[in-house]
Amino acid sequence: MHGLMMDTPLVISSILRHADRNHGEREIVSVTADNPRHRYRYSDLCGRARQLANALARFGLSRGDRVGTLAWNDYRHLEAYYGIGGAGYVCHTINPRLFPEQIAFIIKHAGDRVLLTDPMFLPLLEKLAGHIGCVEQFIVLTDDALMPSTTLANAVSYESFIGSESSEYLWPELDEKDAVALCYTSGTTGDPKGVLYNHRSQVLHAYACIAPDVMGLSSRDCVLPVVPLFHVNAWGIPYSALMVGAKLVLPGPKMGDGETLYTLMEGEGVTVSLGVPTVWMALLQYCDKAGKRLNKLQRTVIGGAAVPESMIRAFRDKHDVLVHQGWGMTEMSPLGTLNSLKANMQELSAEDKLKIQTKAGRGIYGVEMRIVDDEQNELPWDGVAYGALQVRGPWICSDYFRLDGSAGAHTDDGWFETGDVATIDAEGFMAITDRTKDVIKSGGEWISSIEIENVAMGHASVAEAAVIGVPHPKWTERPLLIVIKAEGKDVSKDEMLAWLDGKIAKWWLPEDVVFVDEIPHTATGKIKKIELRRQFAEYRIPA
Ligand code: AMP
Repeated sequence: MHGLMMDTPLVISSILRHADRNHGEREIVSVTADNPRHRYRYSDLCGRARQLANALARFGLSRGDRVGTLAWNDYRHLEAYYGIGGAGYVCHTINPRLFPEQIAFIIKHAGDRVLLTDPMFLPLLEKLAGHIGCVEQFIVLTDDALMPSTTLANAVSYESFIGSESSEYLWPELDEKDAVALCYTSGTTGDPKGVLYNHRSQVLHAYACIAPDVMGLSSRDCVLPVVPLFHVNAWGIPYSALMVGAKLVLPGPKMGDGETLYTLMEGEGVTVSLGVPTVWMALLQYCDKAGKRLNKLQRTVIGGAAVPESMIRAFRDKHDVLVHQGWGMTEMSPLGTLNSLKANMQELSAEDKLKIQTKAGRGIYGVEMRIVDDEQNELPWDGVAYGALQVRGPWICSDYFRLDGSAGAHTDDGWFETGDVATIDAEGFMAITDRTKDVIKSGGEWISSIEIENVAMGHASVAEAAVIGVPHPKWTERPLLIVIKAEGKDVSKDEMLAWLDGKIAKWWLPEDVVFVDEIPHTATGKIKKIELRRQFAEYRIPA
């Protein structure tokens, strides 16, 4: 027997309508290339998103057509999320930091018919023009007065594209399983792969994110997503912030600049901010140098890579800011876990709490996790057993766009292989220990390169550290520590090993330490281990 409840589809236009009705006066502050502080209200966002939807319909888009965006975090990009996705088209956010050939590949692979771009990416697109013939219309996110000259055919300014359109628009009644957004994984190997989100997944994900034990967002918050709108939907913030009516601060192209972030946070009263560890390093370094304290910020959500303990400590001790580590993937919308302490942990000492906070976090309702061994046997949640981490749930991809199962990312029983290796403790806290493709297997046992890197990063003379496995005659593989020294600092191999000694298991101690000037990164700032392993292919551990 079915229940007797309305079958209201979970579509993103419902978030916009709710925000317009209930929080129309709430402010959105943006830094753009041409305006250090653009301000408007939710109601303005909603009206302009409707104008964009009208303009795209007039252009002749059909349901499911892809519209690409190459843009930083600002109000026009946010309008695109709703104006495109809400109208039944697919908002394909593109990472401008990818290599040009990858950008051309994904525009073609996605078949973007229209492309919205910040003015600063015009030279890049002009170079790619011959390779992205699918794009019929370029829309430059500026107005006519500031529209740069371009060799691109069919380029108009965003303001002229939407300017004459009505702000009245009836959002179509879509199927909640219709595609709404597309994001390609940065891909450390092979071609980037497209993750195609649907309305339902994004609404459910946003619902999960706002919960108190997850991001705990409310109408009283002021949220600054440093995580880009092109990186997994800025971790859902465009949907979750509007769902609750939080003030939004969007840092535009200045997201990596510690001083800009500090000024925005203090000036606008930012209570929550989200980003990868690298940006927080920039902010913390700026505060240290300038002798500044974060007075308004209450908490940060840090994910995308392991969060060094020293970072959690610096936020806590210097700024009284609580760090919530999160873990997820492009394929997971992205949120899988978030680190917030349970009731029985409230009385722990500060140091014991810190130990828990260095873990990736605990499962949130909507994402099921399991760890398995090589034979797919489930491993215990004892905080010790390491295994391949698999997930399933309504906001986790079931396949990649236009790959028809060929990526082989799912198990026979329907779980998604994350490629991460993890422990899960009895309280449900998951800790990433490595990636499947990145594991160091020494004498049949796993060594976590990430944990060694984290400890090495805590040394004051280390700017960056990476650990890879290198061949060893007895143990098959042993860890090699690769270090970039901090500017003006010196440290020797023996000093590095002494620093690690006692902080990690003895048998994890790297076999050697080498100092380099550069460590290769992917376009999203992760260490490119595959490239690093290639660079050290000829390396042999000293006898
Ligand atoms: P992406 O799809 O580019 O966001 O990358 C997802 C991957 O980033 C995950 O599979 C992990 O390997 C890594 N990652 C994300 N969050 C964390 C975290 N808190 N600790 C360690 N690795 C993480």
